[in-house]
Amino acid sequence: MSPAQEAPLCVFCRKNPAEAKWRPFCSERCKLQDLARWADGTYRVPAEPVNPAEGPGEDNTDTPDVT
Ligand SMILES: [Zn+2]
Repeated sequence: MSPAQEAPLCVFCRKNPAEAKWRPFCSERCKLQDLARWADGTYRVPAEPVNPAEGPGEDNTDTPDVT
C-alpha cells in the first residue's frame, strides 16, 4: 500500500502543502496575497488566444506565393 498522497503545494508560496480549506493555497494569508497580486496587476490576464486558422475552407489570407 502506498502512503497517503502528499497534498499539492500551495500555489503561492510553494512551501506548504495546500490546505483543503484554502485550496489551492496553504492558508488564508497566501490566498489573500495571491488575490492582492492579481489586484496589483502583477499577474497579467492572458489575452484571448488568437486562432491562426479561423476554420476549414475559409482561407482568405493573401500570402505572397512565389512561384
Ligand atoms: Zn502558502
